[in-house]
Amino acid sequence: MRIQFSKFITYAALLAVGASLFAQQQSTPPAAGRQGPGQGAAKPQDTEVWQPVPKVVTPGASDAAPPSDAVVLFDGKNLDQWVSSRDKSPAKWTVAGGVLTVNKADGNIETRRTFRNYQLHMEWKIPANITGAGQARGNSGVFLASTGPRDAGYELQILDSYNSETYVNGQSGSIYKQGIPLVNPSRKPGEWQTYDVVWTAPTFNADGSLKTPAKVTVFYNGVLVQNHFELNGETLFIGPPSYKKYDAAPIKLQAHGDPSEPISFRNIWVRELN
Ligand code: MG
Repeated sequence: MRIQFSKFITYAALLAVGASLFAQQQSTPPAAGRQGPGQGAAKPQDTEVWQPVPKVVTPGASDAAPPSDAVVLFDGKNLDQWVSSRDKSPAKWTVAGGVLTVNKADGNIETRRTFRNYQLHMEWKIPANITGAGQARGNSGVFLASTGPRDAGYELQILDSYNSETYVNGQSGSIYKQGIPLVNPSRKPGEWQTYDVVWTAPTFNADGSLKTPAKVTVFYNGVLVQNHFELNGETLFIGPPSYKKYDAAPIKLQAHGDPSEPISFRNIWVRELN
């Protein structure tokens, strides 16, 4: 009798599974959360979401290569995507051998396009023969949003921070004078380094007041150094940070005025996340 009961249970269970599979094949995918109280036990399908289907993006041949939906800002050939920050004339930094090198006399350069939220990949190199100390040793930077002339905006610092001391909220990988990098994964001068950035732009109310602050995540040579860091405003050389309203903004590269040898860039691309 006990064995027969056991067989009955097994048979009933198989029937239940069969009915469930049949129901899955017959019905369209249910919306998540449709199951209400008193309508029976929750089912796996209750929490399945089928729409919208994520857009297909073809990744690059390597993780450093631009995926199919990237805007390529520098691929080693020319500066068509860049202008001088000073007067918006074509950028005059040096392009040679697939590499872009800062021209300090020409000042900062910025993208022709403007961006709000995005993912950015870039590679940069402090020259092997770098000289100087602290902030005067390979200083550059990427302004994640350029909100005006010169150094106005939100700077992710670039500097030689390999065995080189400076204030920690100004070392490489810092959000200048705001976000100290979590660790220091700097490579030696002469070696290529990478930044992979997720930038969430601040938003503003119609009266110019801040609605939501900017947030940034940065991987430096593949190592997390800024983890969804919330900014207090634009990065300033002197004084506390503060916000000023902007909509979309160029990405800007810094020609720092120190006399150390200029740094280089390559493979810069961005994916808009608006
Ligand atoms: Mg800088």
